[in-house]
Amino acid sequence: MASTQSTPDLEEEETAVETARRQLERAAAHLDVDEGVIERLRHPKSVHRFTVPVERDDGTMEVYTAYRAHHDNVRGPYKGGLRYHPGVNEEECVGLAMWMTWKCAVMDIPFGGGKGGVVVDPKDLSGDEKERLTRRLAQELRPVIGPMNDIPAPDMGTDPQTMAWFMDAYSMQEGETCPGVVTGKPPSIGGSYGREEAPGRSVGIVTEQVLEHYDMDPADTTVAVQGFGSVGANAARYLDDLGASVVAVSDVDGAIYDPDGLDTNDVEGHDERPGMVSGYDAPETLANEELLTLDVDVLIPAAIGNVLTGENARDIQADIIVEGANGPTTSTADQIFEEKGIPVIPDILANAGGVTVSYFEWLQDINRRKWTLERVNEELETEMLRAWNAMKAEYEVRDVTWRDAAYIVALKRVAEAHGARGLWP
Ligand code: GLU
Repeated sequence: MASTQSTPDLEEEETAVETARRQLERAAAHLDVDEGVIERLRHPKSVHRFTVPVERDDGTMEVYTAYRAHHDNVRGPYKGGLRYHPGVNEEECVGLAMWMTWKCAVMDIPFGGGKGGVVVDPKDLSGDEKERLTRRLAQELRPVIGPMNDIPAPDMGTDPQTMAWFMDAYSMQEGETCPGVVTGKPPSIGGSYGREEAPGRSVGIVTEQVLEHYDMDPADTTVAVQGFGSVGANAARYLDDLGASVVAVSDVDGAIYDPDGLDTNDVEGHDERPGMVSGYDAPETLANEELLTLDVDVLIPAAIGNVLTGENARDIQADIIVEGANGPTTSTADQIFEEKGIPVIPDILANAGGVTVSYFEWLQDINRRKWTLERVNEELETEMLRAWNAMKAEYEVRDVTWRDAAYIVALKRVAEAHGARGLWP
């Protein structure tokens, strides 16, 4: 048995797809699922690679590489974000697409898993260049996406405006308005109220359940949130409104800290006004890494992947971790948290409010009928509680981590669908 001093027998430089496969194997070990189905699920159904030429503002042309990975669509169309980030690569898209399969399944949403992105730093693009890139990308992706086939959504580096350009370009080519081709659009063109806030809101709803499970009173709970973008800011504000004390939040430039609790509604989010988090007049400032190791009750990593690693996992002092970002915990860190008895509430459940409201948006688009914000938030809460209870039921009957429990719920549903449909021909 590993002592707290031992080094786990895992590669630190694991790719997203390796991590996703490892998580699949762990869940499969608890279930009696046909090995053929598991083997199918280790692989994406397809991965598409495109080159996207874009005219820069100075008249020169740049060619960007883009990917769209399709993991599994046994339960419905592929669904997942489209990110603009310099670190995008094929392996990462496949891993993230696999996570979308489990995320949709754990929520019992009739979608499969997809993910894509462009290898570009959006900060290097002007607004006009970003628009041209997005429109041309929509054209390149057109053969492999569609409202009944694969429905992209915002992710790192993309936002409602990106989705609006994408939907417009796709619709112009189709010759009809197709709001259901992407979700996360502005409400004026078929976007859902509450979609932008949904991933952070679901992190808040799930954290509330976790506190209840561990008999913790929100009023006596301290929270640190790494990343004060759309997910982190909305999660922090939800928990602040619940009475918790959000003592630290951060953006890329650093963290702010107030042991008495920050007024999270007064701190402008990174998306709302970049630079305003670290520029806020707080009692103390910290480096991002210091935020992660604060002695708080709940730590919410809500920025990027792989921030909790073998390097820092032993220094984490939080009692509970709730994953706001996709894949913030490496396998090594996961193993250390298991040894230390720190519960980690997985991303595929915690931030699944995003894809859940994306599903609501898709329904609204298909029905050409808008829901009120109250209805969206009410139905989101119902779905989050349903999924939380399904995960909790597995957690309580098996000796597994919360992550394993969520994967078991998801894999059971996906495997059952594969079993029922069978292999064609
Ligand atoms: N990019 C988001 C995620 O990782 C949303 C996906 C969607 O709404 O399709 O969950």
